[in-house]
Amino acid sequence: METTLSHYFGYETFRPGQKEIISKIIDHRNVLGVLPTGGGKSICYQVPGLMLDGTTIVISPLISLMKDQVDQLNAAGINAAYLNSSMTQKQQKAVEQELLRGEVQFLYVAPERFDNGYFVNLLQQLTIPLVAFDEAHCISKWGHDFRPSYQEVIHKVFALPQDFAIVALTATATTEVQKDIMQRLNINKNDEIKTSTKRRNLVFKVNPTYQRQKFVLDYVKEHSDVAGIIYCSTRKQVEELHEAFQDQNIQSTIYHAGLSNKEREQAQNDFVYDRVRVVVATNAFGMGIDKSNVRYVIHYNMPGDLESYYQEAGRAGRDGLNSDCILLFSERDIGLHQYFISVSKADDDYKDKMGEKLTKMIQYTKTKKCLEATLVHYFEPNEKLEECQQCSNCVHENKTYDMTDEAKMIISCIARMKQQESYSVIIQVLRGETSDYIKYCDYDQLSTHGLMKDYTTSDLSHLIDELRFKGYLNEHDEILTCDASVKKLLNANAAVFTTPFKRKSKEKVSINTVEGVDKALFDELKSVRQQLSEQLEIAPVSIFSDYTLEEFAKRKPESKQDMIAIDGVGSYKLKHYCPKFLETIQSYKAQI
Ligand code: ADP
Ligand code: MG
Ligand code: ZN
Repeated sequence: METTLSHYFGYETFRPGQKEIISKIIDHRNVLGVLPTGGGKSICYQVPGLMLDGTTIVISPLISLMKDQVDQLNAAGINAAYLNSSMTQKQQKAVEQELLRGEVQFLYVAPERFDNGYFVNLLQQLTIPLVAFDEAHCISKWGHDFRPSYQEVIHKVFALPQDFAIVALTATATTEVQKDIMQRLNINKNDEIKTSTKRRNLVFKVNPTYQRQKFVLDYVKEHSDVAGIIYCSTRKQVEELHEAFQDQNIQSTIYHAGLSNKEREQAQNDFVYDRVRVVVATNAFGMGIDKSNVRYVIHYNMPGDLESYYQEAGRAGRDGLNSDCILLFSERDIGLHQYFISVSKADDDYKDKMGEKLTKMIQYTKTKKCLEATLVHYFEPNEKLEECQQCSNCVHENKTYDMTDEAKMIISCIARMKQQESYSVIIQVLRGETSDYIKYCDYDQLSTHGLMKDYTTSDLSHLIDELRFKGYLNEHDEILTCDASVKKLLNANAAVFTTPFKRKSKEKVSINTVEGVDKALFDELKSVRQQLSEQLEIAPVSIFSDYTLEEFAKRKPESKQDMIAIDGVGSYKLKHYCPKFLETIQSYKAQI
């Protein structure tokens, strides 16, 4: 087992849970593995698949993501293939021939493939030691990403004549979802392997800023040389933020379900191949994506439940290096999810469940307790809780921000209106917009017209909400009026502070300064990797992860022997990729 791991993947030791899962598969048992994102779930079916004769079938939820997995295996000298509807007849035939000759060790397919009788017939002729269900939470209706096709495929798999083991793998499953998966896939109670959900390299932060856009722009500028994902809840918001990036000359790409397949594929490739650093996306992006060096995931809006949040945030730092998971939110996000639940066509039971999940998510944004512990408690209620000492609650990073100036501007605007006006009119006036109504009322003549033109609509509504909660403004049917208490404020006898908001972090996040790593060499090695990647059409991190490059830059290996001792260097990679890196290290050393 260890030999297979080090020969093909270059790792000396298994991560928690991997060995137990693999042993059970080799013993021909059906297994459920619950390992955190980045915990190394792929190895759990890849190592036994290499040890057993025949073709391991991997069921994966999205067609567009199989290519990465297959490329990664090919990059390690392993014959893997996928079959999907985006391929030409000729390509499909070629794969079928290889399958029939018994040359393919891993075949990736989407569950829908099993609807095709021809395909099922082909499978019947193969030797199949193992069927893997990746992202197995998609099987359960109680999961956060239920796909009916994932459930329907199960009986078709069981109907195959071969006698294979089944492994189901997932990162984010509540106890209920785990039970459901095990029952459906015929997995014994004793054959569930679960490791801690904790991922110590992720630094969780909650930031109730009212200036989300500014926060994100500042953050991305400060971290311009590393990769990150920004999740928004709507396509519109994705596009708006992307535009804001373009205005500031920040390179970014977008991804949402409204784009064509081709556009989405392009966006994903640009990101995976390190051609752009930032992707702004809806939650359609990222499942199974193979990019281990994502250094931050920012949620521009609050997701509807903690499973989705943890799954999406967990796409950061899969290489084990420190990464930020930041949740921005405003009270308005809550209303949106409540609305989604209320209009959903699901039965009442299901709606209740979603409502409970939403409540837990809201609690996460409000808690003063350790964020990591809060997450762990959600997934593992019996786990002993410890403070992580690094999340924004543990380090008390969130400062309140003096919004007295903004408060005065808003209040004086409201006071100058010739009649009582609604939220949206006031925001439009402050932003300096001109509608027929504004012109009709001569509001464009007011001194407050355009007074806050640098603030976005959502910044302003957030500020107004703060003033309402603090009692300075009253609202009735969307109409805003000033409370008597504003007098004190205007006379400069009081200050207004936002609920905790982090304006600027004092210490820069130390995601680029790992101890002992020669940064200049690391950058050179990264560009070697980039060149190789373009040349071989393999994603950079499939060649070597950032972790492995950091080890190179730390230890400065002089020979192939030195290199093979480093995590992530297997014999295939040693032969094919290492020479270039060795050369670079040598000439770097010669210079200093
Ligand atoms: P996930 O559990 O999220 O599917 P992956 O299978 O994509 O995670 O693995 C995440 C990263 O961890 C990959 O870069 C993989 O090569 C690496 N990895 C997996 N197993 C080990 C191991 N035993 N030692 C070191 N790195 C590993
Ligand atoms: Mg995975
Ligand atoms: Zn903490």
